[in-house]
Amino acid sequence: MSSIVKTEAIVVATAKWRDSSRMVQLFTRDHGYMKVIARGAFRPKSPFRGVLETMNHIEVIAAYKDGRAFQTLTSASLINSYHRIREDLQYTAVAFSTLELVQELLPVHEPVPDFFQYTTDLLEKLDALGPDNPKLYLWHYMLQLSETLGFGWVLSHCANCKNEPAAFPLVLDMENGGCRCANCNNTFSRNAVRLNRNQWEQLSGLATATVADLQAFKPELLETIRPDLTDILLRHITYHTETRISLKSLKWYM
Ligand SMILES: [Zn+2]
Repeated sequence: MSSIVKTEAIVVATAKWRDSSRMVQLFTRDHGYMKVIARGAFRPKSPFRGVLETMNHIEVIAAYKDGRAFQTLTSASLINSYHRIREDLQYTAVAFSTLELVQELLPVHEPVPDFFQYTTDLLEKLDALGPDNPKLYLWHYMLQLSETLGFGWVLSHCANCKNEPAAFPLVLDMENGGCRCANCNNTFSRNAVRLNRNQWEQLSGLATATVADLQAFKPELLETIRPDLTDILLRHITYHTETRISLKSLKWYM
């Protein structure tokens, strides 16, 4: 089946394609992750010029055909280029990291419109607020993404006794994305991630927070968790998706 689709999208990545065209990976609102070809995008007078930069929020019209690896982009217009994010290395690192996660993990042509809306909300907050700890936004994104992919964390109660944790430290199960209270876990292994009450309250609060809540969060406690929370969340994602993700953007910019 072929059709013309019009949808909002975030530019996830782009690359040169043959002589003057561009291959663009998009996270779209209505069709999920998809790859399109923008013909002639590198020609001087192309209407695509300046629109298809990575991270731009755009509106696209594409000729869509089932089963085709690359759809054909027919027009694109800019909604938001998040220029304040681009002026700051740390915000850029976080924003590009979210795009890396999308690129690696979202299945092709499977719409997740709520997660798309959340992604643009989060980028807008980063762009507008210039928050003190942009990494908090990355952690939130990773928690939301694992939820969207169907293997979210359960931090509100102990995986064994099912009670709200009363005995600390808790032990995090990085593979299953849960926790065990101290009563249910008396065999701490050397590699176990332990959380005290304050750390647990912050982390379980983060998992259920909305983007709007993040401004009021204090990330200092989460930064005391060892290993680093980014590594914990990545390990959980890798375990469930069998995809090793390095978040190159964090290494380059932070
Ligand atoms: Zn328990």
